[in-house]
Amino acid sequence: MSQLAIVTGASRGIGAAIARKLASDGYDVVINYVSSAEKAEAVAEQCRSFGVNAYTKAWDVSDYAACKQAVTEIKKEIGVPAVLVNNAGITRDGLMIRMGDDKWNEVIQSNLSSVFHMTSLVGAQMLRAKTGSIVNITSISGLHGNAGQANYTAAKAGVIGLTKTAAKELGTRGVRVNAVAPGFIQTDMTDALSEDIKAGALSRIALGRFGKPEEIAEAVAFLASDKASYITGQVLSVDGSTAL
Ligand code: NAP
Repeated sequence: MSQLAIVTGASRGIGAAIARKLASDGYDVVINYVSSAEKAEAVAEQCRSFGVNAYTKAWDVSDYAACKQAVTEIKKEIGVPAVLVNNAGITRDGLMIRMGDDKWNEVIQSNLSSVFHMTSLVGAQMLRAKTGSIVNITSISGLHGNAGQANYTAAKAGVIGLTKTAAKELGTRGVRVNAVAPGFIQTDMTDALSEDIKAGALSRIALGRFGKPEEIAEAVAFLASDKASYITGQVLSVDGSTAL
């Protein structure tokens, strides 16, 4: 019987690539999204082509009650996940002095509180099962800071702290928790940036190109798998060596 993986924010971009990679590795997958139902279903079809089960499920990961309901339903209807990938995220960029607390709170809730919601709820199930692997998607911006992204960088740095603490709390029962820190990856999130910002970013990447979602998915799949059985509490940068 296949093991189950939940991937949040898997209707597009990096999350979609992670879902496809885990499906190709033989996992059944739950594809979470918040609004892109058609795109999520298309990703599910691609996953099913690998011969696994794929389920689409809409819920807002920034909402604790919605996460609790989704995690409860998934356990009842499908099973306890072996893998959780906390990937969903948003940007609401702007200089800090003009940001206001709306943009701050929205990003903290969607990018950091969401990881707490899902890790605590799914982590409890994994603890009881005495096995499981959680991979959180942070960002190199969370490691280095980035002008115009006070909310985003604070959330992503918070994800790193949460990853390290969760690894300590869940490790005694064999549950591993790691993070992947992507550099500049070509998705809808980065397509929205100006040509100036893209050119500036490109000039700082040693490999001389932006990354692809599939290159993040490979790192996530490795950390999720038993091949990484003695790796926990770590942050793996996948950024083509970006100078920040
Ligand atoms: P993206 O193309 O904008 O896709 C974002 C995904 O997250 C979508 O599937 C979206 O669902 C989902 N989502 C957003 N808010 C949600 C919520 N509240 N509840 C449930 N799902 C939600 O983003 P991406 O570039 O693939 O980024 C994925 C992750 O990688 C994010 O955490 C991002 O911060 C991180 N990251 C990206 C880059 C990069 O260069 N792209 C670099 C470093 C880190 P809908 O389609 O339904 O809206």
